[in-house]
Amino acid sequence: MPILLPNALIILDERDRDVLPAVRQAPPWKLSWISLKYPEIFDRIGEIRGIVEAEGIEIVIYGRNDQIEERINIGAVTRILRTGYTSFSGIDRRNRAGQMAQCFADLLGGEPVDIRGEESAAGAPAPDPPDPARGNVSLLFDTEQLGGVRYGLPRILRLLAAYGARATFFATNLVGRIYPGIIGRIREEGHELAIHGFHHEPMDGRSAAEQESAIRGMVQEFGGGIRGANFLGRMDAATIEALAASGISYFVYPLINKYRLVSYPRRTPRHTRIRAASGSIWALPVAVETYGSTWFSVRNMVDAALEDAGRRGIDHVSILCHPFRDGNLQHLRDMERLFRYLRARGLRAIPLAERVRALDAGEATGGADEEAIESWQPEGLSITSPRDARDIASLPAENLMHIWRKVRASRMPF
Ligand SMILES: [Zn+2]
Repeated sequence: MPILLPNALIILDERDRDVLPAVRQAPPWKLSWISLKYPEIFDRIGEIRGIVEAEGIEIVIYGRNDQIEERINIGAVTRILRTGYTSFSGIDRRNRAGQMAQCFADLLGGEPVDIRGEESAAGAPAPDPPDPARGNVSLLFDTEQLGGVRYGLPRILRLLAAYGARATFFATNLVGRIYPGIIGRIREEGHELAIHGFHHEPMDGRSAAEQESAIRGMVQEFGGGIRGANFLGRMDAATIEALAASGISYFVYPLINKYRLVSYPRRTPRHTRIRAASGSIWALPVAVETYGSTWFSVRNMVDAALEDAGRRGIDHVSILCHPFRDGNLQHLRDMERLFRYLRARGLRAIPLAERVRALDAGEATGGADEEAIESWQPEGLSITSPRDARDIASLPAENLMHIWRKVRASRMPF
């Protein structure tokens, strides 16, 4: 399939220019460029916005991401600009520049990159699955950055195979076009492929009909058989209608359990069946996110979510991860720790599609709420004081980490 792509703005760090070949245009892309120092990206946001508006930019392509080097929050930039995004950043600290140059070449080559990624999972021993009676988790991977796919995803697939775990990958069609072999391995190795936008574009603000035709296009390009969608932070009520009308069975919404300064906001990771005009669709909560958190915090989030789910008889919790983050060499050991921890707690890792099959068959415990689209609200934040010894023991450490992250991010104006 040819790489037919929209107008793109590439944001380079000027210090990376000597690593990358001097390119102006690379058909079929229509490229605009800006080069700056990434720590100054928020100071230049007016100028960047000007280019986006003048050139009709639909996707911003970053040369760095917030996992590497100066850790500038490109997610915040994308939210301001309201465009799609990807990145050709390297992901491993010790080979960032080499990986970046490779992904840059892959991006602008104009042809699919015919590789399957190193670290084949074939033949990896799968241990016996734990007793499913003790509950299920779903590991979700947002898959949209080139370095994450080329370098992180094969490592994640190897870990999943080694731990007998199956996961859900929300992938953009763009990374599927550039790396069809690697993205193809997701389904070949027994995992679930789900949609995440053509190029991570915002869905909200468009008509339901327009969104439906986009969603159908995403599914078709993946060869059909898609059950789920992740448009976290970029969807609206029309998106839910459009997903249901396209035959999608579920979408995810954020319900992240994170410590706050003096408390622990608890939210019940409860699934909801939403009635839309053309049928019903499951809203499935994400209770844990590894992004930006230490292993200590991730484990606390997992424990709290499991405890809260367990108290209400819900036998499932979802954990959101990213191959460019959890698959990089700085975090891969923490990822494996999470796998070991979930196994030790007797939890089985299943794709969300399997969770939905159990919900549809009435086999899942915990009961489901049913709501009309107009009345559905993702559950609000309920702040509670520390409830148990773990909460109390964790607060000082979590607070210190919270303050450290704020200091580190203090270049952001908000
Ligand atoms: Zn994403």
